[in-house]
Amino acid sequence: MKKVLLLICLVCGFTTVSAQEGGHVAPECTEWYSPQPPKVQPGDKPGNAPSDAIILFDGKNLDQWVSIQDGKKVPAKWEVKDGAMVVVPGTGTIQTKEYFGDCQLHIEFKTPKPAGPINKLQMKGNSGIFLQSIYEVQVLDGEDNPTYVNGMVGSIYKQSAPLANAFTGTEKWQVYDIYWKAPKFGTDGVMESPAMITVVLNGIVVQNNYILKGNTPYIGFPTYKPHGRLPLLLQDHGVTVAYRNIWIRNL
Ligand code: MG
Repeated sequence: MKKVLLLICLVCGFTTVSAQEGGHVAPECTEWYSPQPPKVQPGDKPGNAPSDAIILFDGKNLDQWVSIQDGKKVPAKWEVKDGAMVVVPGTGTIQTKEYFGDCQLHIEFKTPKPAGPINKLQMKGNSGIFLQSIYEVQVLDGEDNPTYVNGMVGSIYKQSAPLANAFTGTEKWQVYDIYWKAPKFGTDGVMESPAMITVVLNGIVVQNNYILKGNTPYIGFPTYKPHGRLPLLLQDHGVTVAYRNIWIRNL
C-alpha cells in the first residue's frame, strides 16, 4: 500500500512539476478517498431529525432541560402541552443539560396572540435562542411589529438585523435552522477566531455567515470573554412562546 502511495506521489510530483512548466496534471492527483464521511440518515421529511441528531425536545417532556435556581440546577418549569413546550412567564430561562460548541440546530417556535396593550414591540412574542448560553438569536413576533430592526425576529440581538423578514404570522409555527461556529480561545484566553452564524428562517437565509462582535446584551456593547462548550439556553421574556421539534447535531 505504501509503495502504491509513494508511486502516486512520485507521479503527481512529476506531473505537478510538468504543470508548472505548462504541462498536464492528472485528475487523480487532486482526488482523495479517505477518510470516508460518516453515513447519516436524513429525517423522513424535511425538518425531522437525522440519525445522528441529539433530540432536545420531542413533544413529550423536558428531560433534556433544567433551570438554574440559586446557583443550582432544578427541573425546568415550562409547560408541556399539545406536543410543544411553552414558556411559563416568571419561571426563568431553561437550558440544556448537555453542553455544545459548533453545531447545527433545528428549532420551531410559535408566538401567541397579543394579550393586551403591553404585548407589542419587544414584548410581542419575545423569547430567544442563546447559542452557548451567551449569543442570542432573537425570537419575536414579526407581524406588524415596528421594533428596532436589530432586535426583530431573525436578528442577532442588537448586532445584526436580518436580511429579510421571513416571519409568517402570529400563532403560526416558525422554523429556525441555525448553523453555529463557536468562538475559539487559546489557552491564554486570547480569542483565536470569533463566532460565526448562519440563520435560516422558514427556508429563507436571514443571517449569512455573520461574524459576531461578542455577546448580545440589552444594554451596552458586545464583548467576548473566553469560554468552552456551554448549554443551549431558551429565554423567558414574560411571554407564552411555544417551542417544538428541537434537535441539534454536533459539528
Ligand atoms: Mg429575546
